Amino acid sequence: MRKKACAKCGREEAFSGEFMGAFCPSCFAGTGTLKTGTARLAVCPRCERIRVRNQWSKETPELVLDLAASKVKGRYPVEKAGLVALQKKRNEWLAMVSLQFSAEGKRVEEVQRVRIEVRRMLCPDCHRLASGYHEFILQLRGPPKKVEKMAAWAQEELEKDTLVTKAQEQPQGIDLYIADKHPAMQLVMRLHRPYQATRSLKGVRRGKHHFITTVCIRL
Ligand SMILES: [Zn+2]
Ligand SMILES: [Zn+2]
Repeated sequence: MRKKACAKCGREEAFSGEFMGAFCPSCFAGTGTLKTGTARLAVCPRCERIRVRNQWSKETPELVLDLAASKVKGRYPVEKAGLVALQKKRNEWLAMVSLQFSAEGKRVEEVQRVRIEVRRMLCPDCHRLASGYHEFILQLRGPPKKVEKMAAWAQEELEKDTLVTKAQEQPQGIDLYIADKHPAMQLVMRLHRPYQATRSLKGVRRGKHHFITTVCIRL
């Protein structure tokens, strides 16, 4: 009797009826039975909560799995899913998801990689706490066009990690009032331009000295 050989790995069928079409069960799992899309979420840089489907909640493996698995579509309905690994970068997470499904009466397990696009933004609670408060003033000085362009870019970049509570026009430029000093200072370092920094005591806030750092950059 002629034995069937797997179209992918060449392994011969050990038991009759073991194969799934032209493939052995393990190769069948990689034959495009599942397709993955890109998932999206937002992360708050202050409290680290995540927003999934318009709701802010604490990040849990279940929540990430649920989101990632919802982006996997196939010919066979997924019966069981698990989160194997999660790799995090600033603007992108990669979730390795294992999926079990039944195809032609057999159980198949396949691991898929799902890309999650990550947007950074303050959640409404952190946004409320940050508004009306600032630790940092970025003074941009120079020709009006250059200042305007830089202020718009800086505001967009800063709002990935903090809040710009006020943008005030000055005779020689613009002052940006920023809630958190660390992301503001990181932005200043990224510009690679000479700057002047001063620190002044604003008062006492919740039992702590509240300092304001002012950095002036000439464009
Ligand atoms: Zn095979
Ligand atoms: Zn938050």
